[in-house]
Amino acid sequence: MELALYDQTIHQLQELLQSKQLSSVELTNQVLNRIDQVEPQIGAFITECRDLALSQAAAADQMLAKGEGGPLCGIPLSIKDVLCTKGVRTTCGSKILEPFVPPYDATVITRLKEQGAVMVGKVSMDEFAMGSANENCAYGTPKNPWNTNHICGGSSGGSAASVASGECIASLGSDTGGSVRQPASHCGVVGMKPTYGRVSRFGLLAFASSLDQIGPLTKDVRDCAMMLNAIGGYDPKDSTSVKESMPDFTATLSSGLSGMRIGIPKEYFSEGLDQEVRAAVENGISLLRQAGAEIIEVSLPHTEYGIAAYYIIAPAEASSNLARYDGVKYGFRNQDASTLLEMYKTSRSQGFGPEVKRRIILGTYALSSGYYDAYYKKASQVRTKIVEDYQRAFTACDALVSPVTPTPAWRLGDKADDPLAAYLSDAMTICTNLAGLPAMSLPCGFSTAGLPIGFQIQGPHFQEGTLLKIAFALEQALGISQRRPPIST
Ligand code: GLN
Repeated sequence: MELALYDQTIHQLQELLQSKQLSSVELTNQVLNRIDQVEPQIGAFITECRDLALSQAAAADQMLAKGEGGPLCGIPLSIKDVLCTKGVRTTCGSKILEPFVPPYDATVITRLKEQGAVMVGKVSMDEFAMGSANENCAYGTPKNPWNTNHICGGSSGGSAASVASGECIASLGSDTGGSVRQPASHCGVVGMKPTYGRVSRFGLLAFASSLDQIGPLTKDVRDCAMMLNAIGGYDPKDSTSVKESMPDFTATLSSGLSGMRIGIPKEYFSEGLDQEVRAAVENGISLLRQAGAEIIEVSLPHTEYGIAAYYIIAPAEASSNLARYDGVKYGFRNQDASTLLEMYKTSRSQGFGPEVKRRIILGTYALSSGYYDAYYKKASQVRTKIVEDYQRAFTACDALVSPVTPTPAWRLGDKADDPLAAYLSDAMTICTNLAGLPAMSLPCGFSTAGLPIGFQIQGPHFQEGTLLKIAFALEQALGISQRRPPIST
């Protein structure tokens, strides 16, 4: 069956655009119509930018006519509302930033604009990217396009839901402990968290600066490689971005798996794993074996301490990063306060939502003198152990494969009152960030209830090319990358 334009991939549409069979204005209008049709059920957007999108599309058509622009020229994208976009409201899913309109673009946005990409809007997220279900957003909760009674995953939930439902062709999200990979897994799309330092964080509103990384969400693996090509590379504006060479990630996709050693970390297949998730991931592993990879078992013994360490380190960094939202320079201010202290207190207590407050309290406590050694220092030591686990594993194999989440997407509201239960869903994604490694998720099957199941691939620093190659081989073997959710309109 021929896919509608809004359901197609970047590389399919790029061909149509560059051969002038399609204009970006036509494509953008189709995507905007799709948003009109499905947004009432899905709710992925915080801010739509229709006029901007159409003017960017017209400019892209001119670039295309002159043979200019990059591979993303004319492609409609959505952007997680954590990235600064010049002249377009940026909320970070929070009331505390209202009415912030950034005076500058994040570096990744500048790079997309240079290519001639089109931005259809800013999409939903958990407030300050804190969450795994996108139920912590001050502007409503997006729904899973495969079943709107279920969560779409978080914190880049709007990105994943908008890609899956054809409300954009691809998106950018951010991943501090799994926030690109989890929603990608739950919505049946491809998502990547690049190596820490691969993609500039300039203009990314900070959650936990030693863990945050921007990454693409796309409809297939080739699109993921194209997006990484566009956004990756050194940026003098981010002192943690690395001067590592940027290969063309699309060039090696189909170079095959022979000679490749793939590790199965046994800790990721423990008893709590949902049986359908286990079966789908094991099927993926056997397909990789058939494709020529050697499969070996490895151990990452400190995985079980990942959640405990992360939920000290991330809140500690957040408590410091979020201190800037004090009602003084920008964002929300309680105008009724009569003293400076009252203004600080009430602006912050009215502006932040409950999960963000919980993290600020946790992080401030963990960093307070007298507790620092017991919590932050200990967590940092565990972090080193986790890094060493990976170093050891990568002497035996080129990449690690596993599930992304222990279960498929749960029902809306199921864990909303139980933060600890939600934190546990991060068990398989968090250690990657603690070690700064690249990882990705791609769809590997569906539960009997029709919900997507994701397959995770983690690799050594700066080996995104290896991950993409494995993902591409699996995607070819599975043959499910053209499936789209059955959204009734
Ligand atoms: N679920 C994790 C958290 O709430 C990770 C979020 C993220 O990656 N931004 O902190």
